Amino acid sequence: MRRLCSAANLPEAYLLKQLLEQAGIEARVFNEHAQGALGEIPFTHAYPEVWLINDADAVRAEELIRTYERTEPSAVTRACPACGEQNPQGFEICWRCGAPIS
Ligand SMILES: [Zn+2]
Repeated sequence: MRRLCSAANLPEAYLLKQLLEQAGIEARVFNEHAQGALGEIPFTHAYPEVWLINDADAVRAEELIRTYERTEPSAVTRACPACGEQNPQGFEICWRCGAPIS
């Protein structure tokens, strides 16, 4: 068993677990119930964690997580130079004000 990463919330933890399992990597989510028990658990321990069953999968799993983080929508937005609105990567004009994004 080996801890891979912690997730911001439970849905993300399960998304990562699913991502790993699609690649044939066995994973478990821990701290599942942490968010319901914030009063009892120190805050830094309250995030769900994704653990690998087999240590040997670590390199491949970390690669998958990095790819996931690169393609996560919030990570690829660009701010419009005219109005400051966030636009998805690949947009050439702002969806809000129509200004070109370079
Ligand atoms: Zn704009």
